[in-house]
Amino acid sequence: SEVYLNGKWLKHDEAFVSVFDRAFMFGDGIYEVTPFYSGKPFLLKEHLKRLKYCLDEIQIKFDPFALQETMLEAISRAGLNEADAAVYIQVSRGAATRSHFVPEKIETTVLLYAFPVTLKGFEKKSWEVMATEDKRWHRCDIKSTALLANVMANEEAIAAGFAENLLVRKGYFTEGSHSSLFFVKYGVVHTHPEGQKILSGITRAEVINICTDLNIKVVEKAVHIDELVEVEEIFVTGTTTQIIPISSITHKNKKVYTARKDSVTKKLQEIFIKRTREKLT
Ligand code: PMP
Repeated sequence: SEVYLNGKWLKHDEAFVSVFDRAFMFGDGIYEVTPFYSGKPFLLKEHLKRLKYCLDEIQIKFDPFALQETMLEAISRAGLNEADAAVYIQVSRGAATRSHFVPEKIETTVLLYAFPVTLKGFEKKSWEVMATEDKRWHRCDIKSTALLANVMANEEAIAAGFAENLLVRKGYFTEGSHSSLFFVKYGVVHTHPEGQKILSGITRAEVINICTDLNIKVVEKAVHIDELVEVEEIFVTGTTTQIIPISSITHKNKKVYTARKDSVTKKLQEIFIKRTREKLT
């Protein structure tokens, strides 16, 4: 399949970057994943806005909004005009002789490609997960390619037979290794507040919008692991995950949560499916 690299369309196995690329050496780059339902983008502006925010935060000068046409072209070149797919964008600071010091003259490395994803049928899934200490850095709002802590947490879960690893900082749940996290307690939806401890999930924001429209109260407040006894429903969200309920949580080899209800998650999934059919641009 084809990828877009620094302005050129290349076969993926003929596309190369320098061994001195800073994303390769330092994880010095930002990425973004945008979903396409039946060939049409969902929340495209929001994804590009987050990408711009992250690039600004690490002082990479690049305007991702200039990539909109290229994203659509990636979908058609990959023959995904009618299919469910996603577009991956990665902007690296660029290549320079290895040094922490960033030279003034450096050109960003821009990679973009489309790939098929299964978006249908998520509402039939549920995940058994584990929980572990959040070992990530203190800028989780930056969607950096340096995903080592996320990869390690996810691998730990997979090796133990779980679908995801929920991360806990000082006793409070932040988010999943690759998903945002929601709790329903006494009918009120709880999720960790935005800030530097979580990624500002695009699906998270859309789920909050849906709650507002449904008159479901949302509290942006972290939930403590000891509060699980009062929790009725838990679900995770993400661009390719969409909305998936958590059936159980295992923490330090003990089951600390088993789902009690599903009505709020079901309702949100129903509206989410509608929006991913109608709110496409
Ligand atoms: N948190 C983390 C750590 C993630 O990697 C992701 C992305 N898959 C999310 C949350 C969900 O964000 P989004 O809804 O924007 O995909």
